[in-house]
Amino acid sequence: MLAQKWKELRAEEIRKWEDSCKYEDFIDDRLITELIDISKYPDKKQVEDIIAKARQNVSSGAMLSPSEVAVLANTQDPQLWEAIFETADWIKRTVYGNRIVLFAPLYLSSMCVNNCLYCGFKNTNADLDAQKLNRDQIVSEVEVLINSGHKRLIAVYGEHPQSDAEYICQSVETIYSVHSDCGEIRRCNINASPMFENEYKQIKDVGIGTYQIFQETYHHQTYSKVHPRDTLKHSYKWRVFGLHRAFEAGIDDIAIGVLFGLYDWKFELLGLLYHAMALEKEFGVGPHTISYPRLVPAENAPLTTMSKYLVSDEDFSKIVAIIRLMCPYTGSILTARESNPLRDTIIRKGGVSQMDAGTRIGIGGYSQMEKEHLLHKEQFIINDTRSLDDFIYDLCKEGYLPSFCTAGYREGRTGANFMPLAKHATVKNFCVANGILTFKEYLMDYASPKVREIGENHVIPNYLQWIEQNMPQLAVQVEEKLGLTASQQHDMHF
Ligand code: SAM
Ligand code: SF4
Repeated sequence: MLAQKWKELRAEEIRKWEDSCKYEDFIDDRLITELIDISKYPDKKQVEDIIAKARQNVSSGAMLSPSEVAVLANTQDPQLWEAIFETADWIKRTVYGNRIVLFAPLYLSSMCVNNCLYCGFKNTNADLDAQKLNRDQIVSEVEVLINSGHKRLIAVYGEHPQSDAEYICQSVETIYSVHSDCGEIRRCNINASPMFENEYKQIKDVGIGTYQIFQETYHHQTYSKVHPRDTLKHSYKWRVFGLHRAFEAGIDDIAIGVLFGLYDWKFELLGLLYHAMALEKEFGVGPHTISYPRLVPAENAPLTTMSKYLVSDEDFSKIVAIIRLMCPYTGSILTARESNPLRDTIIRKGGVSQMDAGTRIGIGGYSQMEKEHLLHKEQFIINDTRSLDDFIYDLCKEGYLPSFCTAGYREGRTGANFMPLAKHATVKNFCVANGILTFKEYLMDYASPKVREIGENHVIPNYLQWIEQNMPQLAVQVEEKLGLTASQQHDMHF
């Protein structure tokens, strides 16, 4: 079907859905603005009390309130900021342990009927060489990813009849079917446009991990401005309840995010919180992860450099840390849009739990690793271009445990089963154990000599010791599985 016709029919269906939508919009722009305005000058004691509360919340999984988040966002005192950063790191280590879960984005299609003012894939970008991967190309891309050591992907799609729900299903099945030497992709998350319930059901059936939709901006007026009227993405309501529909369709592992730089970052933080609260209220389950992509330059998208809300590095670090205090149980994803030095700083200050590495965002980008990044094939510019192995080496030097764990969703620890573990800070027992086992697998199968040296002699012994000290019974089982991994048995996990 022609893209224009497909878009018109879909727009009509979306309108019908909007008319019958049973949910009330949970974003009140005026209230959020007021909350930010009335807490403009917080006093020290107020901020200290909120920090103390965030620490206590770790064992119950409770979130901070919108007014508390507004206070943190308005905090100026550098000493208080030191305390907030330190708390973010503490919360992350208490809930998830000191591991960083690694993944790679895989761009399947840059064809898109929308026209988002910030995106290189927008329909009116005449210089974009819009493409989608066919079966063979997907296999080639996935082989490169597997052979570098990856086990977890986020598959990314433009919104187009050629990359509709059916294509998403086929591509995910292809991704899971690839087995190369000693590896395979064990979890494929999705970043795609909002769907109808019947489409979500199809996608769920092929065994996806998390379904991720970024609202981009929660501010209604800005949302309308950056997503032009004649596009599918123009409907705020359709998008903001996209994950509600996913839930209704049985997808219980969902992720939210904001594209920082489109509107005031303080407002967006509260938007994320209200979204998490709405999901919890409706389904008893909050977001599995929160993402905070920040605008980076994209081809023929002047807004990406001219927006008056562009976020400085300093404010960006604050955003990441506040998200950690605000929602202690959620995974926190810091992407390669950010530069190496900033990523290295924010891991520690912001309580980050997941990162992409060895990233290529061009369509077919992994099969052309030796080539430069090609802007006319890419959605935007990435700034951290380290290889997966170099990235892992840097993590190891800082004492982190690189993890390729995908056990959670395969063992049924998703949605309502995952939340209590994260909310009571016991998920780290699994995280550290599975981190050790999957990192060992990486060391055996893919690591460079320098990573193998630091991994075998420092990282694995350190974390084994941590388990022995904290959970002696689990340590026995981990050592047993570690022995099996050393004798080339794969996919040992808890
Ligand atoms: N087309 C789907 C959608 O819009 O939901 C998939 C998402 S798009 C391919 C992935 C995400 O990249 C977007 O949701 C947006 O947050 C982010 N993005 C787009 N342009 C960007 C830019 N110039 N800088 C940083 N992130 C950007
Ligand atoms: Fe299309 Fe998504 Fe890019 Fe918007 S952000 S133009 S919907 S790919």
